[in-house]
Amino acid sequence: MSLHSYDDTVVIPALKRQVSVCHNQSEVAPDTFFFAENIDLDLYEHIIVCMSGGKDSIASLLHIQEMGVDMSKVELWHHDVDGREGSQLMDWIFMADYNRKLSDAFNVPLYFSWLDGGFEGEMLKEKSYSRPHQIETPEGQITLARNTKRGKPGTRLMFPQQGASLASRWCSSALKIDVGRRSLNNQHRFEGKKVLFITGERREESANRAKYNQLERHACDRRRGRKGRHVDAWRPVLNWSEEQIWDILRRHRVVAPIPYRLGWARSSCMTCIFNGARIWATIVKYFPERARKIAEYEELFGKTISRNKVNVLELASKAHPFEIEDLVALEQSLSDTYSLPIFLKSGERWIMPPGAFSKEGCGSL
Ligand code: SF4
Repeated sequence: MSLHSYDDTVVIPALKRQVSVCHNQSEVAPDTFFFAENIDLDLYEHIIVCMSGGKDSIASLLHIQEMGVDMSKVELWHHDVDGREGSQLMDWIFMADYNRKLSDAFNVPLYFSWLDGGFEGEMLKEKSYSRPHQIETPEGQITLARNTKRGKPGTRLMFPQQGASLASRWCSSALKIDVGRRSLNNQHRFEGKKVLFITGERREESANRAKYNQLERHACDRRRGRKGRHVDAWRPVLNWSEEQIWDILRRHRVVAPIPYRLGWARSSCMTCIFNGARIWATIVKYFPERARKIAEYEELFGKTISRNKVNVLELASKAHPFEIEDLVALEQSLSDTYSLPIFLKSGERWIMPPGAFSKEGCGSL
C-alpha cells in the first residue's frame, strides 16, 4: 500500500472519527462519529433530552445549558416504565413527579410517554398483541394503536432476561426505545425540521456502551425521505467520568436524586432485573411489598429473574442491606408526590450521596 493510499484509507478516516465535529460540516462529512464532544446546537429546531431523572440525564441537560443552548428549543421526554394504568412494579413511585418538578425548575416542557399497562402489562401478555403506546405532545395525549396485521400475537409470561441483547431483555426496547421512536415518528411538528435527540449513556458504564458512537443518525431520521425529518442522536456525556457527572450537579447545586441518596448506584427502575443481592436485601428491608410482588411473579412463571434460579427473596437473604441514614430521602421514596427541592437553597452545602461511585449492581447497561 502506498503512503498516500494508507493515509486515505486508514489515517484520515481514523482522524475523522476522533476529531470533535464542527457540525456545519454535517452535510459533507460522514454523519457517524465515535467522538463528537462539541456540536453546533444552533443547527437544531428541536432538542429533546431523554430525562430518566438520573444523574447522567440531568448532567446532559446542565451541559447543554452550559454550552449556551437556546432553552426555548429544549424539551424533556420521560418514559413511564409502569405506565399510567395503576401498576407499581418497577419504577420508583416518586419518579414521574420528580421529573415534573425538574422540568418546572429548569423551565422546560416535559412530555411523558408509555406503553399502556407498562412493564407488568407487557410481561403478562399471553397469546395477544402488545398494547398501544400513549404519547404526550404539545397538542395533547395521543394513543398509537399496534398494527395487528404485522406479526403474530405473542406470549411473555416471564421477566426480561438479563443480558445485552435487547431481544430477550425486552423491557428496554418495549418500554423505552420503541416508545421514543413512535413518539418521534408520529408528530407532524418534527417533519421538515432538524431534531437533536439526547441521551445520557457513558462509555465507562460498560464494555457495550464503550463502543457507542457519540453522534449518529437516529433510527427515525428521514432527512432524505418524504417527511424530511432530520434526527441526530447525540450522547453529550458519553466520554465523561462519574466524577465529572457529580461535579456538574454540584456546580449547579442540583440535589442528588433520591435513589443515590438511598445507596443505589443508578437511578433506573427500583426493582431492575439487574439488581444485585445487596440491592434486593435493601428492598426487602425497606420496601418489602415490592420484593414480595416480584417474587410472586417468579413463582407464577416458574422462572426467576436470576439465571442462577434463585428468586429475589433468596438472593436478598445472601447479602446485608444498606443502612439508610438519609431518613428524609427514605420518607420521600414512599410518596408519589415529590416534595423535596431540586436545587439547594442558598447557604446549604452540596452532599455527595452514598450511592455515588458504588459498584453495587443495579440498572441496565
Ligand atoms: S432499568 Fe432495568 S428493569 Fe427497568 S427497563 Fe431498564 S433493564 Fe429493564
